[in-house]
Amino acid sequence: MYVTIEGIDTAGKSTQIQKLQEHFKDAIITKEPGGTKLGSKIREIVLGAQINSKKAEFLLFLADRAEHIQEVIKPNISKMIISDRSIVSGIAYALVQGEISETAIVHLNRFATDGTYPKKVFLLKLTKEELEFRLSQKKLDGIELRGVEYLLSIQDAIVKATELLELELVVVDATKDIETITKEIIKSI
Ligand code: C5P
Repeated sequence: MYVTIEGIDTAGKSTQIQKLQEHFKDAIITKEPGGTKLGSKIREIVLGAQINSKKAEFLLFLADRAEHIQEVIKPNISKMIISDRSIVSGIAYALVQGEISETAIVHLNRFATDGTYPKKVFLLKLTKEELEFRLSQKKLDGIELRGVEYLLSIQDAIVKATELLELELVVVDATKDIETITKEIIKSI
């Protein structure tokens, strides 16, 4: 079963992925962007360089996704796959960005993935208060610099993306303690 962990920056995705890896010892643990050799190069570009064209940025994320689906997801689809982000993030960020139409975003993502979608989507959901607190506790970097409202709009768009793709969404309260969240995800899987 292919499942994805989604959430905005500071939601605790990496921690949960690590916990799930300890529990599901035989699972394939992967990520987007950066789950393949090509993907790690694309990740460096999309997170490092200044990309002026929003379309170019979108297409780089899509290239990462196409390679990831072909090289990691499809060959292992009968196994347990846990991915840190997926098509769901891809669609959510693009929807908020607003440069490309919803129809084109979904169509191009379907093209890149051949319609290979996660069976279950876990959204680690933060409240505004908790997000504000977490951001206040760290040196802000990258997307975090765009602020609370931006990050919350991405969180809403994650829900919208699962609706557009008609995926099963499990919303997990990311303000709970780490162990409780892990247990909830494991139980649902
Ligand atoms: O969570 P992860 O470390 O994989 O994400 C790297 C950064 O890329 C995060 O700041 C995230 O907000 C951003 N991102 C993005 N567009 C996506 C996926 C992630 O801007 N489609």
